[in-house]
Amino acid sequence: MLEVRNLLKSYGDYQALSGLSLELQEGEIISVLGPSGCGKSTLLQLVAGLSRPDGGEILLHGQTIATASKMLPPEKRGINMVFQDYALWPHMNVFENVAYGLKEKRMPLQQIKDKVAGALALLQLEGFERRLPPQLSGGQQQRVAIARALVTEPRLMLLDEPLSNLDMRLRVEMRTEMSVLFRRLKMSVFHVTHDPEEAFAMADKLLLMRSGAIDQFDTPFACYHKPASRQAASLLGAVNVLQGHFAGTAEEPAIGCSAGLLSGILCEPGGKLKVDGPAELRFRPEALALLPETADAAVEKKGGQTNILEARVIHCTFEGTKWRTLAETSGSERLYLFSEEHLETGGVIRMALPSHAAYLYGL
Ligand code: ADP
Repeated sequence: MLEVRNLLKSYGDYQALSGLSLELQEGEIISVLGPSGCGKSTLLQLVAGLSRPDGGEILLHGQTIATASKMLPPEKRGINMVFQDYALWPHMNVFENVAYGLKEKRMPLQQIKDKVAGALALLQLEGFERRLPPQLSGGQQQRVAIARALVTEPRLMLLDEPLSNLDMRLRVEMRTEMSVLFRRLKMSVFHVTHDPEEAFAMADKLLLMRSGAIDQFDTPFACYHKPASRQAASLLGAVNVLQGHFAGTAEEPAIGCSAGLLSGILCEPGGKLKVDGPAELRFRPEALALLPETADAAVEKKGGQTNILEARVIHCTFEGTKWRTLAETSGSERLYLFSEEHLETGGVIRMALPSHAAYLYGL
């Protein structure tokens, strides 16, 4: 239902979007995820009609809504947006805020009342009709903003960092609620965030952005298990890095690094891996399994599918369900891992890293 073709946008000399293309299907939730400054908000604003592209095209239901020379005004696009700062009218009460879009459409009063009541019920805001925004908590204000965006039944909903201003507990609660609500209403949603957990909680598809372009566009499962680049891997939690040089072949990848020659590791395609060229291995803390001191290395290797790493414990903290440990390899590379027990500072530990959870990228 939404198609973006080869979208370009610059601010002066700075190219914020460099030829971006994507499609969003009816009833689908796409979460756009990327570091600050990668162009997420720029993309959203172009779709919303708040700014004009320099090149490319945006189509909604097959109708061109934006090119460099033609712009359908925002109010004619059938798109509603929920902002990070809620953007509620402070002098209007909850009812008036939610009813605003319907009044603009000159809907009969009884119909407006019914629709607003329906939207407020959906977001568990009954009884708040007469309150002004400053008399509401952050979470309640964000619910009002969502109710206001839903009530006019837009074809597409845009969410710009919708939960960033809420505290952690509320964020976790709201992202699940929003995900359930939008699916129940079969809404098409384009959602921008810098928080991977929020993206995973909401998305049918993840759009990972980097420097104004798409890094990866796939299901959350595929992005998580096969990150397309080292930046995508890092964004999705693979924060442990071993720098080294690529050895072996594409079929039998290996990396020479401070931990010795690691073989049998998963090699991400990308064409940039050169034999003996610089490479890095990335993996998540949860991919590392602590080995008992007495374990026989030959048995652990299980036919070369598991890498064995050795490191010295630097710090170990209790995080509620597990201990998070920071350890250092002989090459001074820092690794995070989780363990069931406390690990003594200064102790040497050995860890198993399964090949399928280690991602290799050329530099
Ligand atoms: P994100 O939402 O991913 O943080 P933005 O789309 O806001 O990124 O910005 C992308 C890049 O464009 C950033 O480097 C930002 O500084 C720049 N930028 C955004 N808006 C403007 C503007 N109005 N004028 C100049 N530069 C801008």
